[in-house]
Amino acid sequence: MLQATIADQLEKVRIRVQQAEKKANRPANSVQLVAVAKTKPTADIEAAYAAGQRSFGENYVQEGVDKVQALQHLSDIEWHFIGQLQSNKTREVAEHFHWVQSLHRLRIATRLNNQRPAHLPPLQVLIQLNIDEEPNKAGISLAELPEFAKAVQALPKLQLRGLMLIPKANPSAAEQAHTLQLCQTAFEELQQQIDRVDTLSLGMSNDLEAAIAHGSTMVRVGTDIFGPRS
Ligand SMILES: *Cc1c(COP(=O)(O)O)cnc(C)c1O
Repeated sequence: MLQATIADQLEKVRIRVQQAEKKANRPANSVQLVAVAKTKPTADIEAAYAAGQRSFGENYVQEGVDKVQALQHLSDIEWHFIGQLQSNKTREVAEHFHWVQSLHRLRIATRLNNQRPAHLPPLQVLIQLNIDEEPNKAGISLAELPEFAKAVQALPKLQLRGLMLIPKANPSAAEQAHTLQLCQTAFEELQQQIDRVDTLSLGMSNDLEAAIAHGSTMVRVGTDIFGPRS
């Protein structure tokens, strides 16, 4: 996509975030924008970078690592892995990313911890919830959260920062409010228990306003910045 178009769309998303912060009586800049560039070329990331964007999300290990390496000269990019992670790919993620937002299995968490290079700071992690318990979606249930969070917290090369949720597609307004409310409550409880927890990653192109109204501190936006994925 044209560099000017990406800059333009990025600005529109920033304005939406600012307006949602204001409407929810949240402080300005309390919500971090992660630009999701999966399937898009590195040139699109460079265009967003030139427009001031610094956090980027990737879903696929090989594609993500290729982009991290190709853009190594942009050394202040913060890379977020947000996709499903298989155990044979954990090393690549532990070595190349700053954040993993999709943690939901202890076996994966343990491997990431063991494979995080000693010279790098701890990997920043979010636990992925599946509140609606949709069978084809990853994530743990609310009932499993306390025990899983405790196990993750015990791993020294992982820093537990909060929760991530991919809400159901096309929910009714009532369903959406219900799910977001449960997620916000779970986040607030976790914050009481664990010091460094400060991140609720909730909200995408279609629902970032509702997410920010329910306490989201991080939104992950792809389509509305980079255009539809084919
Ligand atoms: C693709 C993706 C997004 C971005 O979704 P859009 O609707 O394109 O904004 C956000 N989060 C995750 C986990 C994704 O896989």
